[in-house]
This record gives sequence, structure tokens and C-alpha cells, in this order.
Amino acid sequence: MYDYLIVGAGFSGCIIAREIAEKLNKRVLIIDTRNHIGGNAFDYYDENGILVHKYGPHIFHTNSKKIYDYLSQFTKWNNYQLRVLAYVDGKKVPIPINLDTINELYGLNLSEKEVEDYYKSVQLQYTQITNSEEVVLSKVGYDLYKKFFKNYTKKQWDLYPSELHASVCARIPTRTNRDSRYFTDKYQVMPKHGYTRMFEGMIDHPNINVMLQTNYNSIKKTIPFKRLIYTGPIDSFFNYKFGKLPYRSLYFKFETLDVETHQETAIINYPNDYDFTRVTEYKHLTGQKHNKTTIVYEYSSKDGDPFYPIPKDENISLYQKYKTEADKLNNVWFIGRLGTYRYYNMDQVVAQALTLFETELVKLPDI
Ligand code: FAD
Ligand code: UDP
Repeated sequence: MYDYLIVGAGFSGCIIAREIAEKLNKRVLIIDTRNHIGGNAFDYYDENGILVHKYGPHIFHTNSKKIYDYLSQFTKWNNYQLRVLAYVDGKKVPIPINLDTINELYGLNLSEKEVEDYYKSVQLQYTQITNSEEVVLSKVGYDLYKKFFKNYTKKQWDLYPSELHASVCARIPTRTNRDSRYFTDKYQVMPKHGYTRMFEGMIDHPNINVMLQTNYNSIKKTIPFKRLIYTGPIDSFFNYKFGKLPYRSLYFKFETLDVETHQETAIINYPNDYDFTRVTEYKHLTGQKHNKTTIVYEYSSKDGDPFYPIPKDENISLYQKYKTEADKLNNVWFIGRLGTYRYYNMDQVVAQALTLFETELVKLPDI
């Protein structure tokens, strides 16, 4: 008999498992359908010995010292600040759009003040921003919207920015200075020995058992447990009784090249050209030295593993129906990007798992 069954061995599942095992001294079983731990942050050495992320590039960034310190129990870090270029009009220019982007793209030599005036001259005014198209148009106007956001978003989501919540494109800031970092969080790091090593550290506790290649449905009646934490898609738990929640998927095409370096930055986005959205060269992220290099082309797709909840009103309404059902259950909790249908970064799912533990689980009667 397990005290807690945890469905999903990603960030959400492994962190909540560790907290319960260590601080409540309860017996925990983590299961995952996949043949590895780490969820979408799983990394491994490919056949050439190059460290790659199986499900696309993962860069850890947070402003929270608490989250950074928490994970530091399980890994040492390399500092790493992501820089991304976008291939637009035959040129590779910085994204987020900054002063250099404007100058290089339009062949100008504007100052910070002048680029601010440029943005003002092209910005569209709205009384209220209601979607991702308006977010971008209100910041950089139509030409830059078309060059950087319209087609990338269509490729990634099969939706135009006007069909998505404002929060999606609002992830990408606009700058007047020359700061070319993708993120500006206080802590921007990569686990020194990879994400998978960090997860191994997290679950290395005598109260934690792990079963891989195990689906919740196949064991729910045979393995006894008292409480359940579910980090898979919430609609799957309820057997899709209100209909399927849409998730966007991806597929990845890996290539190892016989050169030391392939591209200028870890990630290059292709908003308007090709079928893939972006190309990642992993050695930039990991700092690994190797005479070959592995890159991955990212294609988005309707079918496959659920990678992205799709932030749209009708989807949030459907999620709310499942959430209402979830709230009626005793001894079952839903967390994580799939369990709460939120477009969350890694630090946000860590925070969510720690909050569940600190505000609810510690207060429950003993079992
Ligand atoms: P997941 O990692 O999805 O884990 C859920 C697990 O549950 C999965 O392993 C799944 O197999 C398992 N599961 C589901 N259903 C069942 C079932 N019925 N039975 C058993 N097991 C089940 N975040 C950042 O902060 N920085 C980044 O650079 C970044 N890059 C990203 C790039 C891509 C391409 C993607 C897709 C995401 C990226 N993220 C990034 C987000 C990050 O991956 C997530 O925030 C994080 O991994 C979510 O963790 P989780 O545990 O909630 O979910
Ligand atoms: N986006 C875009 N062009 C870009 C980068 C991002 O249109 O060059 C939009 C797109 O809709 C994307 C969203 O902004 O899905 C969020 O981008 P982010 O890089 O945060 O996506 P993720 O890394 O989560 O896939």
C-alpha cells in the first residue's frame, strides 16, 4: 500500500514526490508512461555522445531565489543566458526585437531614443488588449508583427495571434536597447550535468519508488494507494467526458553534423521560411566540447504527445469544467502544465508543486 501515487515523473511529479517522501515520511510511487524520468525536460547522451534534450530546448530561468535554491539541492549549475536569432528577409537578427534588430533589418542607424520614437510611430492604440495580435501591434506595429509573429504563430499553433490569448505573444518583450538575451530573469542556468541527473537526485530517497512504462489506467485498480497526485492531462483522468482538451504537439528531427559548430546561437527561429519553427544546437546550451554537433529541427503538429495547452477562451472554459469535477474529489490533486492546463515554464511548475505541498498537503490529517 502506497500513501501517495504520483502520475507523471516530470518536474511536478518528482518535486511533489520528494517533498512528501522527505518531509512527511510517506511512501510514494511515481509512475510514467514513458521509459524515462524527467518529463519534457528529459535529456540524454545521443549515439555520438552529445547531450541533447529529447523534447526540445530547455533553459532554466527564474526570478525566484526560493526556486533556484530549492533545485540547487539536486544539481550544480552552469550560468547560461540564451540568445536567439530570427531569420527574416534573408538576415539573422535578434529576437526579442531590440535596437539592433531594427537597425539591421531596415538598414538604419537609430539611437535608443530614435527607436522608441519609431515604435511610437507604428504602434496601434487599443483601449483594451484582447489577444496576441493586439499585444504585438500595440508594441511594434504591423510590419514587424508580420515579419516576426504572424507566421511563426500560425506555424506553431495553427492559429493566428488574433485567435490566441494575449499572454502567448506577451511572453516575448520588445526592447529599445541592445540587450539580446531571450530572458532577463535574475537566475538563468543549466544543470551542470544535465536535467536527468538532477531528477535522479530528486527521486533518490528511500520512500520513493518509480515505475516507468506504466499508464495510470493500467494500474489504478491493482496498486493500492491512499492519495493521488495527477500531473498528466486532466481530461484524460476523467476519460474525456466533457470532450478532449486541445493540446499542441511537436515532432523533432535530430541531425548530427561533422562540424564543431553549426549556427551562431543556440536557437534560430524561422518565422516565414521552411516548415520547421526553430533549429536548436544543443552544445551552445550545455557548454559541451565535442568535435561534432547535434541540432534539432522543431515541427509543430496536431497529433502526438501533448506539449502545449492552447490558451484560448473556449479551451479554458472546457478546462474549467474538468477543474470543477476535480475539486469535488477527495484525496486527488492535479498539478503541472498538463494537470492544470497552463502554459507554464519549469520554474512555474516547481512553484506550483511546492505551493500545493506547503499550503495543503502538510495540513492534511495523517494517513
Ligand atoms: P511534463 O514534463 O509534461 O510531465 C508529465 C508526465 O506525465 C509526462 O512524462 C507524461 O509521460 C506523464 N503522464 C501523462 N499521463 C500519464 C498517465 N496516464 N500515466 C502515466 N504517466 C502519465 N520551460 C522553461 O522553463 N524553459 C524552457 O526553455 C522550456 N522549453 C520548452 C520547450 C518545449 C519544446 C516544451 C514542450 C516545453 C518547454 N518548457 C520550458 C516547459 C517545460 O517543459 C514544462 O514547464 C515542464 O516540463 C512541465 O513539467 P510537468 O511535470 O508539469 O509536465
Ligand atoms: N513567437 C513568435 N515569433 C518568435 C518567437 C515567438 O511569433 O520568433 C510567438 C509564438 O506564438 C510563440 C510564442 O510567441 O509560440 C511564445 O514564444 P516562446 O519562445 O516563449 O515559445 P516556447 O519556447 O514556449 O515554444
